[in-house]
Amino acid sequence: MTEALATKLLLVGWDAADWQLMHPLIDAGRMPNLKRLVEAGVIGNLATLQPVLSPILWTSIATGKRAYLHGVHGFVEPTPDGTALRPTASSTRQCKALWNILAQAGKRCQALGWYASHPAENINGVCVSQLFHVAPASATRDDWPLQPNAVFPAALAEDLAELRFHPAEVTAALLQQFIPQAAQLDQRDPEVQRLLGALARRLAECISLHALTTALMEEQPWDFCTAYYDTIDRVGHDFMVFHPPRMDNVRHDLYEPLKGVMNAVYEFHDQMLGRLVELAGPDAHVMIVSDHGFQNGAARPTGPVEPSQWHRNFGSFLLAGPGVRRDATVHGATLLDITPTVLALFGLPVARDMEGRVLVNAFEAPPQIERIDSWEEIPDPVYDARERDAASDDPEAAEAAAASMRQLVELGYIEAPGEDVQRDIVRARAAQKFNLACTCVDGKHPARALTLALELVEQFPQEAAFLVFAGQAAISAGDAAALCQLTDALQRLQPGHKQISMFRAFQCSMGNDVNGALRHFELAATQGHDNAWLQCRIGRAYLRLRLWRRAEEAFRRSLVLDKDHAEAHYGLSVALPRQGRLEEGVQSGLQSIALAHDFPLAHFQLGAVLSRLRWYERSLQAFELCLSIVPDFAIAHRYVSLVAAKLGDVERSAKHRELARRALAEGLPQPVVD
Ligand SMILES: [Zn+2]
Repeated sequence: MTEALATKLLLVGWDAADWQLMHPLIDAGRMPNLKRLVEAGVIGNLATLQPVLSPILWTSIATGKRAYLHGVHGFVEPTPDGTALRPTASSTRQCKALWNILAQAGKRCQALGWYASHPAENINGVCVSQLFHVAPASATRDDWPLQPNAVFPAALAEDLAELRFHPAEVTAALLQQFIPQAAQLDQRDPEVQRLLGALARRLAECISLHALTTALMEEQPWDFCTAYYDTIDRVGHDFMVFHPPRMDNVRHDLYEPLKGVMNAVYEFHDQMLGRLVELAGPDAHVMIVSDHGFQNGAARPTGPVEPSQWHRNFGSFLLAGPGVRRDATVHGATLLDITPTVLALFGLPVARDMEGRVLVNAFEAPPQIERIDSWEEIPDPVYDARERDAASDDPEAAEAAAASMRQLVELGYIEAPGEDVQRDIVRARAAQKFNLACTCVDGKHPARALTLALELVEQFPQEAAFLVFAGQAAISAGDAAALCQLTDALQRLQPGHKQISMFRAFQCSMGNDVNGALRHFELAATQGHDNAWLQCRIGRAYLRLRLWRRAEEAFRRSLVLDKDHAEAHYGLSVALPRQGRLEEGVQSGLQSIALAHDFPLAHFQLGAVLSRLRWYERSLQAFELCLSIVPDFAIAHRYVSLVAAKLGDVERSAKHRELARRALAEGLPQPVVD
């Protein structure tokens, strides 16, 4: 075993916590505890994964794997006997989570409130499931039985249950901490009742989880403690519309009293964080993670949309503690990097079947990283014996599941269950398959995604949404024939569907008809489809046509819609130098890489501009980074050869000339350079 940097690690999960909201609060002195950690450690954006659905994402955070490996495919799933739906269970997860691995390695763990963690798992320590603190509608303060199997070890269940805070205990004074002008609200207004009721329930759940976490941290020994707080996300779905600046579609009488709720929720989390850090002690490492950000400012959707459309593509990352750089930023991190980084902190091997990497730039000195093929292959009697898909006929467990399901309905994540249970189960299976297919696109397995999508189309031929998704999968898979068929089917089903121009554009692209593609993309942008990604398609088409000015305009429009769009910054790093604006091109290239490190063409173009500026050493670094991602990239090797020759490094120049020649001679696939 390599030497461990961490003896104790507190991993705090804040669903949807977003630096875009936290930075202003830190600057205003309203999140002092977070500020101390920011100054003492590293922070960064954490790129999310697709689909942006919390149970899938948090399981990726805890395993270092995407859904096609970890097996959690949504909020709900059919019960093993196929007669009902339940929240996705811990037994559904097909691989070890951090708490299983660390427990197996002898660490005392506390895993509290995580998604897909019911029934609570048998670990070396304490595990409490996400059903612990959700009160069914039938429960009162005095009659609120604890869900069976929500706590491991069961001996602690009774004492811990006492810590739960019922929504009825949320006092007016507590609500006033979030809504100082609550008195101005008309309590008879159904919308006000809905909002206040939801806020009270979310606060009660949050307080319950926090009471549980602090009690266990204080009373039980631990090496790794992780607690998952969903309040920022859940309150955000109800209250981010009221966050300043005022949106046009928001009622004036509600805006004034409710505009401060989101900031107050963040402040509340800062206060809780202060206590957690205090309990963790000065020697502990502290990590804060969120699974995605939350749309704010002008990017907020105005109409009714799927809840996940409120999720921004960047979550937040913070790490502080011994051996961690101070007041620094890490770039290019993704959710998949959390598990490998935690393992490295504890001096434990990182597995090759994990899809993320250790965030080595977070450390003062890069940690020694040991590797194994897989943690799954290392037997663990406790984990191997865990209950898999045990059908439960326990009425209380069923009621708990139903309460958790109602919560998901309330939040708009799933449809309200209908009379026809079998129909609901069929829909849930389809949703799971859909989510799995999205994950496959995200993880660069487009052929598998297309297969799954075509199954959905066959099963639900009248559903435009599945046709659209299948078309997108066909695009990812580069399957022009499938795309053509799907577009025709969509045209027959809904002749005016706005996705049709988009698909026609991709059909043109696949046939190398750049002008045709451009025409259809521009049409799509006028059909209410405009977004940062689409403007990048238009920009990339103009790059092909070598119309640099038009390309620049499209990428700038993209950045207006999303200032953190890596591809738009990349596009500028190509379009600007071609107009003689080299230094600006370098800036754009650096921004692109900061947002998406794993973007070989961005490194390549940056290298090219740097070499034109005669910054040869930095140019070489950029090309080497590009080649570390695409080792057989012939033109990049040729550039390295030329630049090395300029620097008088004859040997390096010859080596890369040879590598370029060999890559081309062997016909290895080459990236298309803009
Ligand atoms: Zn989330």
